[in-house]
Amino acid sequence: MIGHIDRLMLRLGEITLKGKNRGRFEKTIAEHVREVLRPYPQAKLQREYGRMYVDTGGVPAEQLIERLKNIFGIVDIIPIKHTEPELEAIIAAAVELVGEYDLQQETSFKVNARRVWKEFAHSSQDMNRLISSPVLRAYPLLKVDVRQPDIELRVEVREGIAYIYSQIIPAAGGFPRGSNGRAMLMLSGGIDSPVAGWHAMKRGLEIECVHFHSYPFTSERAREKVIDLARVLSSYGGKVRLHVVPFTEIQTSFTTTRQDNLMITLMRRAMLRITTRLAEQQKALAIVTGESLGQVASQTLNSMNVIERATDLPVLRPLVMQDKDQIIETAQQIGTYELSILPYEDCCTLFVPRSPATNPNRRVVEKVEENLPLEEMIERAVQQTEVLDITPSMPSALSTTTTESTDSDWF
Ligand code: ATP
Ligand code: MG
Repeated sequence: MIGHIDRLMLRLGEITLKGKNRGRFEKTIAEHVREVLRPYPQAKLQREYGRMYVDTGGVPAEQLIERLKNIFGIVDIIPIKHTEPELEAIIAAAVELVGEYDLQQETSFKVNARRVWKEFAHSSQDMNRLISSPVLRAYPLLKVDVRQPDIELRVEVREGIAYIYSQIIPAAGGFPRGSNGRAMLMLSGGIDSPVAGWHAMKRGLEIECVHFHSYPFTSERAREKVIDLARVLSSYGGKVRLHVVPFTEIQTSFTTTRQDNLMITLMRRAMLRITTRLAEQQKALAIVTGESLGQVASQTLNSMNVIERATDLPVLRPLVMQDKDQIIETAQQIGTYELSILPYEDCCTLFVPRSPATNPNRRVVEKVEENLPLEEMIERAVQQTEVLDITPSMPSALSTTTTESTDSDWF
């Protein structure tokens, strides 16, 4: 329902516009916008009066909005018509814009005009009246309601240009990409960790993903699923680096310790140690996980505590206080849910013991670790880690392979 819109106004958040980081934030967002517009060379970013606009250049506004609304730091997007700052032209544009609503029943309406350019001949009040009369005449189903109108037609007259708009489309908000540094996201194939990654990106963190893969216990499909999840995340931040860590040797060594109920604790600690090493390599300052308090045995406070001691880096858990429903809703909105629920095995689900410890004893855990050549195994895993740079325009990994799932062959 956007019709012949020729311009999109991108409104940035308060945080972006205030303070000493303003210039840097604006620059980051502008770069991100240009990157998103690359497939549409006719569409152009314009920066005027400290605002950002995209001239559609004939590209359907819906298509552009669909992509622009994922850019962190943009709070909302306003499709606008622009005209000469002349009353006749403004009225014609207003009539045209309301016409795009294709009214079928009585609809309330008001004009909200603002004269920013004081030399314009009509005051804001006068404009409200002068513009609404012809619009009301053109559409008999319209009734004025100044308190809660269905359609609020906004008019802004600036020097050399007038804007007419009525729709405000919410966008991602948050901080511009990478404006708060870099973190490693532990990305499993589950529902939670991609959502945690999205929240971290929204806070302005640049994310590098780390995935632990236990081939052949976990299939090639499971790995491709994670590549595709990283690809969805990359559509919010541009390029995303994915580290795929071979975890089979470490995982198998834990099974020999006969500490079944500590399996998850041991695995998580090893994962954290490896992620910490990768973080140092990549100059990342934190680790992000999809843990949520109480969700499973390894996510009790006590478990989290014992697990977290395996690293010196802060472990950020964006979902720690969220309900599963809420997490699922976000997963659906950001487009990771359908991938996450694909049934390919994750290395942890395979080795889940019958009764995982909810209250693991740290000393026992450390003892078990001491009796294994953990350092060497970690070193090997880091050495053999595969690095993939994932971009939003890459084809889906799952849809491009012909390999049959090996899940069923193994179990
Ligand atoms: P998720 O839905 O993200 O898998 P979960 O509720 O299933 O989370 P767990 O499987 O216990 O929880 O994992 C807790 C967190 O540990 C995950 O959110 C993720 O950050 C990390 N993690 C688990 N398995 C892996 C893996 N194979 N590779 C990388 N990170 C992992
Ligand atoms: Mg999981």
